[in-house]
Amino acid sequence: MNVVLLGAPGAGKGTQASRIQEKYKLLHISTGDIFRANIKGGTEIGKLAKSYIDAGKLVPDEVTCDIVKDRLTWDDANCGYMLDGFPRNVFQAEELDKFAKVDLCLNIAVDEKLLMDRICGRRVCACGESYHVSTLNGATVCKKCGGELYQRADDNPETVKSRLETYNTQTAPLIDYYGAQGKLKTVNCGNDSPDEVFAKICEILDK
Ligand code: ADP
Ligand code: ZN
Repeated sequence: MNVVLLGAPGAGKGTQASRIQEKYKLLHISTGDIFRANIKGGTEIGKLAKSYIDAGKLVPDEVTCDIVKDRLTWDDANCGYMLDGFPRNVFQAEELDKFAKVDLCLNIAVDEKLLMDRICGRRVCACGESYHVSTLNGATVCKKCGGELYQRADDNPETVKSRLETYNTQTAPLIDYYGAQGKLKTVNCGNDSPDEVFAKICEILDK
C-alpha cells in the first residue's frame, strides 16, 4: 500500500510517520529529510534547496519530482511506502500519478492556532524523532537514541509564517484533489496527543 501523508507544517506528519513505519512496515520517505541531508552534505541539490527552504517557499517542482521519482525506484520501496511532504501542490500530485499509484491520502488535520508554537518549540534528533521544549524538562538529548537535539533552521517564527501561507495556498488544495479521487481519509486531531492521533490512524489503516 502506498500512502500520502498530508498536513500543515507542525501537524505531526513526521512523528506519525515513524510510528506507522514501525507498525505497518511502510517505508517513510520525507522530501524535507532528503533536502536537509543534501544541505548537510553540501550537494548541488542542497545548495539550490537551501534558499527556498530558508524562505519558507517550495523547492522548484522539477527538482522535487525528480528526487521522488528516483527514490521510488529503489528496491526498498517495493513493499509500500508513505510519502511525507510530497506532493505539496497540485502539479506535484499530477506528476506523482504518472509514476506511482497512490492508494490512500491520510490528512492530519490540526487546529491552525497550535502550529506556530508547536513548530517554534520543536527540537529534533537526526534519527527522526522530534520533541517539544515544554515536555523535555531541560533534556538536550534524544530519549530514543541519545543523539544531540537541535532546532531546525527553518523553525523560526518568520519562516514558519511563510510556510503556513505556502501550505494554505498551495498544499491545502490537495485535500480536494484526493477527495475527488475517493482516496482521502481525514484524521481530525484537535489537540490530541501523538498516541491518540496514532490510534485514530491505526483504525483507518487496519481497515
Ligand atoms: P514541514 O512539513 O514541517 O514544513 P518539511 O521537512 O516537510 O517540513 O519541509 C521543509 C521544507 O522543505 C519546506 O518548507 C520546503 O521548502 C521544502 N520541501 C519539502 N518537500 C517539498 C516538496 N514536495 N516540494 C517543494 N519543496 C519541498
Ligand atoms: Zn534520536
